[in-house]
Amino acid sequence: IPIENLPVSDRTKSFYTDSGIQKLYPPQSKAISAGLLDGKNVLISIPTASGKTLLAELAMLQSLDAGGKCLYVVPLRALASEKFRRFSEFRELGFRSGISTGDLDERDENIGTNDIIVATSEKVDSLIRNETHWLSQISVVVLDEVHLLDSPGRGPTLEIVITKLRRLNPKMQIIALSATIQNSKEVADWMKAECVVSDWRPTKLYEGVYFDGVFEGEVVHTKEKTVKEIELVGKGKEAGVSLAADAIRSGGRCLVFTNSRKNAAGFAKKAGSVIQSYLTVAEQAELLDLAAEITDRSDTDAAKTLAVCIRMGVAFHHAGLSADQRELVEKSFLAGKIKMISSTPTLAAGLNLPARRVIIAAWRRYDSNEGMQMIPVMEYKQMAGRAGRPHLDPYGESVLIATKEEDIDKLKEMYIEAEPEAVESRLGAENALRTHVLSTISNGFADTRNQLSDFFRDTFFAYQRGLLSTITLKTVIDTCLDFLIKSNMCFEDKGKTEEPAVEKTSPFVTADKINSTKEDGDYPLVPTKLGSLVSKLYLDPLSASVILENIQKAESEKMKLTDISLLHLICMTTDMKLLYMKTSDYIPVSEFAAENCEHIISMPPTSKPAEFDWFLGELKTAILLYRWISETPENEISKEFDVGEGDIRQFSETAAWIANAGARLLKMTGSPSAGLFSDLELRLQYGASIQLLPLLKIRGIGRVRARKLYNAGFKSKESFKPADFSTVAGLVGPKIAGQVYREIGIDASGYVIEEKKKRSGDDSESES
Ligand code: ADP
Repeated sequence: IPIENLPVSDRTKSFYTDSGIQKLYPPQSKAISAGLLDGKNVLISIPTASGKTLLAELAMLQSLDAGGKCLYVVPLRALASEKFRRFSEFRELGFRSGISTGDLDERDENIGTNDIIVATSEKVDSLIRNETHWLSQISVVVLDEVHLLDSPGRGPTLEIVITKLRRLNPKMQIIALSATIQNSKEVADWMKAECVVSDWRPTKLYEGVYFDGVFEGEVVHTKEKTVKEIELVGKGKEAGVSLAADAIRSGGRCLVFTNSRKNAAGFAKKAGSVIQSYLTVAEQAELLDLAAEITDRSDTDAAKTLAVCIRMGVAFHHAGLSADQRELVEKSFLAGKIKMISSTPTLAAGLNLPARRVIIAAWRRYDSNEGMQMIPVMEYKQMAGRAGRPHLDPYGESVLIATKEEDIDKLKEMYIEAEPEAVESRLGAENALRTHVLSTISNGFADTRNQLSDFFRDTFFAYQRGLLSTITLKTVIDTCLDFLIKSNMCFEDKGKTEEPAVEKTSPFVTADKINSTKEDGDYPLVPTKLGSLVSKLYLDPLSASVILENIQKAESEKMKLTDISLLHLICMTTDMKLLYMKTSDYIPVSEFAAENCEHIISMPPTSKPAEFDWFLGELKTAILLYRWISETPENEISKEFDVGEGDIRQFSETAAWIANAGARLLKMTGSPSAGLFSDLELRLQYGASIQLLPLLKIRGIGRVRARKLYNAGFKSKESFKPADFSTVAGLVGPKIAGQVYREIGIDASGYVIEEKKKRSGDDSESES
């Protein structure tokens, strides 16, 4: 279908035709015929890069022209930023976009003034819990990567968000975007959506298996030449490197999927040593600057290795890198400066980073429960689907590497010719449901056991499992309710007991319902103040009860609460992800436990080995957080715990969020320990003591530079005088000193010139 013929405004048409898009791709046309622009719900299950986003955009722009408001739901923050950047281009059509990925306990009313709002599914869930009023004005909701309904971590939230949004606004148009999945029709039927399925791709994809110098499968790219050159470089273990180098030599870019961070970095180093010989002098100079950006910002060993790789024109990518590092790698790859990225599978989903050749160097992955496992077909398809940049590459190639001859046929059958798995709901478990049962009552989506059952009957879990699910759900809901009632987060008002001294917050609860005689299952479920707060804070009710019970215990025993007490308590909550215990950790962590036993609120006896082992994992994570707030350099923390900067940030951000929630819970219950949690929150956020805060607010000053400056007497913005420039430059390097003075608005130009004469070259110290 030509863009000109679409039922959208002329401005929208020109927006696309001016950017070179004249007609729709075949699966896109199919979606239009299915009613995408007639307000129908549509699930679009087509391969990567075949234009799903464009379809969502057309429907959103059409709705905006009619005065609507759109919500675009993504699984990851990084993806939210990518989409937000894209939708910001609609400013020229007069539409504003906003991104809501911040704290999970905020209402965020301001963001609602935008026309398109991009948010993660957790954030949308939290906005619903906090009764953000613009949610009911949404005319189009787009659910990106909806196949993640299958993910044990994210799926249940996504499912609940969809169910609640549909209840809030039954007329809202739902557009669900999915990778190809086996049961797309089932997911579509649940959403009352038309289902559009296609395996059409804008660039041809050749998929194959490589073993010892031979391609098996459809990979046709100059087969003889490739094989010959591969022999020059190596076989067996080196095959992946040779294949990567070959792609780059012939003018393409390459993405490599490995199964661990170590392997990703190792692959990049090896491939880089070959690929660097293909770089032009100009490219080398550009890469030097990029590498310097990495080492300027961080002095960890991982940053140094990344910089070494970048100088060779390659990079690695995984969740251990900091957000800055990941962004720089992604941008430089898209710009063609970095020729190859080797990554863990985290990069397979979402982000738009296509390459001519995709190499799947490892198709087995270690699972802590099940040992080495083959990756799912869906993951393979997503990785392979990255091959071939539309309009830029003549074709895409995806190569699975076999290590044994017998694997060739197996891999062809199990991946290339296989259908992806079916998406399955993960909502049935108590751990997934507890928080959603509480929020469903708190926000008035249900106010009796029977209404709760009705609500959950609208979920994908119930749709998929049919009648059987009714019994499972009832049992799990009852278990969750027992817990919530026991922990004073809600009560069942049977009318005969005296009214507990709590406020009823559920809009569903009316006096008339409370007083009338009810059948079992029809008694009002009333959230308590505590229950409402826990729901709004987005904390797992189990976490909240762990915090409250332990603080109560400590207070009644008149225990002195220290940093270790609180950090360990934070690590006891279910919302905190824990570090793995390695065999070599047992002795040092047990010793730490023995030395600090009087600071630890709850320590299981060593006679219960399973519980004690779990406790050690909590404590190990608490020690990491303790090092972080005690200003231990990141490189030392990285080495001690074998983690990356990205992990340290993730641990500390989650802990800061739990500390904040803890402070608010304890404030509500009138506990004197609330203030301790508030202070801890700030320290966790910045990884430093509170005295450094004024300095940390200056851009370019991290915890290490702040400490040096503080110790030298520079304690706030006001302490910097023009004449101090050389002292400051001596502490943090002239480049950063210049930046600091500029930002504070102090003219130190005379001193700067003098400084430049004294120091030749860039000797700025790196921040960790
Ligand atoms: P997906 O979301 O399915 O991964 P995108 O919507 O991001 O794919 O599209 C991939 C690329 O293809 C984008 O650069 C987009 O501008 C381009 N594109 C989409 N539809 C068309 C079309 N009909 N004609 C030309 N280019 C298109």
